[in-house]
Amino acid sequence: MYCKNKAAELIEKNREEITELCEYIFDNPEMGFKEYKSSAALKAFLERHGFTVKMGAGGLKTAFRAEKKGAAGGPVIGFLCEYDALPNGHSCGHNIIGASSAAAAVGLAEAMGEYAGNIVVLGTPSEEGSGGGKEILYRAGVMEDIDCAMMFHPAPWTVINDILLAIAAFSYTFHGKPAHAGACPEKGRSAVEAVIQLFNNVNGLRVTTKGTTRLHGIIKQGGTVTNIIPELTEAQFGIRASTKEELEELVERVHNCARAAALSTGCTVDINEIGVSYLNLISNEVLLKLVEKNLTDMGEHIDMRNAKEGVGSSDVGNLSHRIPVFQVMIGVGSPALPHTEAFAEACKGKRGADIAIRAAKALAMTGVDLFNNPDLVNKAKEELKEKLNVK
Ligand SMILES: [Zn+2]
Ligand SMILES: [Zn+2]
Repeated sequence: MYCKNKAAELIEKNREEITELCEYIFDNPEMGFKEYKSSAALKAFLERHGFTVKMGAGGLKTAFRAEKKGAAGGPVIGFLCEYDALPNGHSCGHNIIGASSAAAAVGLAEAMGEYAGNIVVLGTPSEEGSGGGKEILYRAGVMEDIDCAMMFHPAPWTVINDILLAIAAFSYTFHGKPAHAGACPEKGRSAVEAVIQLFNNVNGLRVTTKGTTRLHGIIKQGGTVTNIIPELTEAQFGIRASTKEELEELVERVHNCARAAALSTGCTVDINEIGVSYLNLISNEVLLKLVEKNLTDMGEHIDMRNAKEGVGSSDVGNLSHRIPVFQVMIGVGSPALPHTEAFAEACKGKRGADIAIRAAKALAMTGVDLFNNPDLVNKAKEELKEKLNVK
């Protein structure tokens, strides 16, 4: 039997190095697919601890796959790193995700010494803004051998059963006909009126959608001057729903809003998907039970998830439809919500590193559970199969 306490102790021993890593990523915020410094820092940390690191996984420059292979035959456990920032810095605390997953893998490997199986760290770029690093890596076959995968995300509370909505984003480009707005408006067809109709149609749609639905749009392009009937406009919408099936239906309804808007104003519309769509999170109970016990043993206070509060979306949802996965939220000790400057403040410096170390210990201990009882991996897989069949 491998020892959980040993994994936690070894992570504690690496505290200084983990703190440096977590602070470095925070102090060098990089947007999606441009996380050169952050991925290099994670690579260096993992290599110092005996991991083999391959950069450029799945054809993405800032993605990596790191591993410390044991003997053949055991489970392959994946730890998911994120390290992309937002325009206002690390306001989603992904410095903590990167540092905690890497630190967990190192602590786990060092605690176990010799083992059968593989410990894999996946550097998954651009979670924010529909980048979909995890989806791209999965499609490229980088995760084919992973039996199950895990990560923590910082949040105002420590919560086991995270909820993530499925999301897709689209652009709607309307083409009208320009004309002198004063002299001969009847010769024109206004692309601005089409965009206004789109928003009105979408607002009308809200009357007959579920409470968990989210429809949020912007106008990217709204014409140039007032004395020409606008020829070209563009709106973009984020569309969210609880499940993949609900999302697909909702997307078609929003597309129809755009088609109707074009028809009624004599315009045409081009519809294009933006980035990668994300799926809802299917949390795995077998894995969640393990991590819950480990957090409790560590003395963490676990909050109840309020289903109506702070529900976002992530590409970890896409993975959860293919392999047993969990994303658990670790409390940062501040009520601030992600994507705000106050939240970034809570993820900064030694305070942020301390959160990463707490998360790393719980992750490594859950890894020990799986190596001690590989049958749990099979049970987690069976659970996912059942959940996918029920739908
Ligand atoms: Zn975020
Ligand atoms: Zn995030």
